[in-house]
Amino acid sequence: MVPRVIYGRGSFNQTSEIIEEKRNKEYPFIFLADKVFEGKELEKRIPLKREDKVIFIDTTDEPKTKGIDTIRDSLKEEYGTVSGVIGIGGGSVLDSAKAVAIMMNSEGSSSQYQGWDLVKNPAVYHVGIPTISGTGAEVSRTCILTGPERKLGINSDFTPFDQVILDPDLVKGVEKNQAFFTGMDCYIHCIESLTGTYLNAFSKSYGEKALELCQKVYVHKSVWDEESDEDLMMASWHGGMSIAYSQVGIAHAVSYGLSYLLGIHHGVGNCIVFDRLEEYYPEGVKEFKYMVEKNQIEIPQGICKGLTDEQFNAMINVSYGMVPLWENALGKDWQKIMTKEKLRALYEKM
Ligand code: NAD
Ligand code: ZN
Repeated sequence: MVPRVIYGRGSFNQTSEIIEEKRNKEYPFIFLADKVFEGKELEKRIPLKREDKVIFIDTTDEPKTKGIDTIRDSLKEEYGTVSGVIGIGGGSVLDSAKAVAIMMNSEGSSSQYQGWDLVKNPAVYHVGIPTISGTGAEVSRTCILTGPERKLGINSDFTPFDQVILDPDLVKGVEKNQAFFTGMDCYIHCIESLTGTYLNAFSKSYGEKALELCQKVYVHKSVWDEESDEDLMMASWHGGMSIAYSQVGIAHAVSYGLSYLLGIHHGVGNCIVFDRLEEYYPEGVKEFKYMVEKNQIEIPQGICKGLTDEQFNAMINVSYGMVPLWENALGKDWQKIMTKEKLRALYEKM
């Protein structure tokens, strides 16, 4: 779990005071910030002191192991080590910050640590400051990277942030469709967790609260207001906590295939898949379609048109590799329910 968290509008201004006590005077703090903030007001508010530096992260593509290794190598070469890494952005930047913090103290390539509990050394101090709500990356025990062989997280006890700063002011300015897709990631986390076979009282308590908050902002309210930003930020947190001790399900397993082969981003990929999962999540998909319509969102269609057998097989193999997700959704006999033929037919519909 994340041991320290502060919440509130304007709490970003406390960043300097919070990190200062963790400063080793010989080494700088490195801020990884989404490139979207370059030249914007938020850039000016990043509290740099001494040798501290901002590295802007281009989120056109989601984080890759190679990119993480490159940042780690250049930081090691320039400074030896750092006082800490602070991520300011969405899931892509938060995951990058976690991965760089781990890799500062781990040898080799980050791709060697994709999996469960492969990290042996504690990460350097790392702080997460989300600027868009939904993924739960601010609270989770993983950082998802695309590597040469797979898209998979570094899941370890050293992955969670040491400190999170939740400031609902920071989500201002997110484009409408993007905000919806990332918000729906949270909704889908809730449905997949709450209907899964791995569910337990711990996960359920967080999942129910997150779902209630998602429904409040997307179903029951007629307009989006400041309170909605606050509610969704907390929904993201609770949704992340819910899956931390259970698992996600079919939408995630299938969307990992889309993302691996076609580079489709996580939020929109989950929406493309979830839209087709009536058979497995009837109530959730019905409500999802209502929210899509109410918010006038277009879910991309026809993305698998014209793919070759080889490409379909590549997606199926990535998806089939996500065993715990399938098991959570469909039980131990999941392969009998979701045969490769059925999965192919599902991809063909998208
Ligand atoms: P993202 O981080 O890729 O950001 C999406 C877009 O929103 C980008 O274009 C970004 O520039 C923009 N943006 C972010 N904040 C903004 C702001 N305040 N104003 C204007 N624009 C802003 O999207 P995401 O959906 O948050 O994250 C997706 C990533 O998270 C994927 O890589 C996925 O694998 C990962 N993920 C991780 C976990 C986890 O537990 N670690 C869980 C789910 C998803
Ligand atoms: Zn997700």
